[in-house]
Amino acid sequence: MGVAGVAPRWVDRMSGNCVEPGQQEPEQSGNAPRAWTSVLASELTGDLPCVRCGYNLRGLSIRELCPECRAPVRATILALVDPKAGELKVLTRPRLTAWGLVVWSIAALLAALGSWVIRLSELSLSWLDVSWSPAWMGRLVVGMTLVSGLGAMVLIRPYPALGRGRQVRAIGGVLAYIPLALLLWYLFMRVDSGRALPVFGAGGQDGVRVLVRLGIGAMLALVILGLRPTARALAMRSVVVRTGKVDRQSLLALLGAVGIAAAGDLLRLLTPEVRGPVGQALHTGEIVLVAVGSVLVTIGLVGIVIDCLRLRPTLARPGIGIADILDETPIKRGAKR
Ligand SMILES: [Zn+2]
Repeated sequence: MGVAGVAPRWVDRMSGNCVEPGQQEPEQSGNAPRAWTSVLASELTGDLPCVRCGYNLRGLSIRELCPECRAPVRATILALVDPKAGELKVLTRPRLTAWGLVVWSIAALLAALGSWVIRLSELSLSWLDVSWSPAWMGRLVVGMTLVSGLGAMVLIRPYPALGRGRQVRAIGGVLAYIPLALLLWYLFMRVDSGRALPVFGAGGQDGVRVLVRLGIGAMLALVILGLRPTARALAMRSVVVRTGKVDRQSLLALLGAVGIAAAGDLLRLLTPEVRGPVGQALHTGEIVLVAVGSVLVTIGLVGIVIDCLRLRPTLARPGIGIADILDETPIKRGAKR
């Protein structure tokens, strides 16, 4: 929370664009007094591309403007330099980790979209007598689930100092992909095979199908709960996350969506014999819960894909820390250069 509290001030100061050196907020210097006082008198001793035009600002003072586009050097520092870069653990394999997250999220989204194709095709068969889902779609869902699990393996040990608890949870999350894929395979290849309308048929879903769906929901919850601590730790590395540009609760939202869909299945399981108008209302309720949950899961996965794509460049290369662009000792400079 303390970290989140810092973020808006950075953004405000960014939009303010030109903060006079004398106006340094006291709480800022309270965080890292030496770094911030020396910053004002120093020249940049490391490479720092201008945030607006990309010109290398090395050798300029923090008080100066970019010679190419007149953007204040301060603006670039506030935008690009990560005050926590020095504290962050170095990733063992930054590029593999970054791409693993992309594969993890995109494969999961493709699996979800594959399930939509199967279900919407059934709906179209039920209403329009037209079915258009290819027979291999179920296999695609299972295959993409396994690919997502492979991608998730980068979350087991992204850096050596990861705590034992997080590591064990991440391993559990990755292992939960195995029963998840098996249940999906069982659902699409066994339970639904040979049935034209497994969900929207006259009798609705049978008990086995609902149980399998609940099992899938439970495994998804295990995957999410297992991977979330490490995924968040990685996301927190990004200055993008700390300035609030990436939603930090996306996995929790996904868990909630899985829960909504599971509530629909649970309703079905607990009230199988209710007939008449009440039964009809319950049946409608189940379908609405499952449909809303499924839509939210899909939207959640889209958000996670976007997060992972945004995080990829940040994870692949280490953040720029204050120590990377400034010497330890301040250099006195003339008022003009
Ligand atoms: Zn510039």
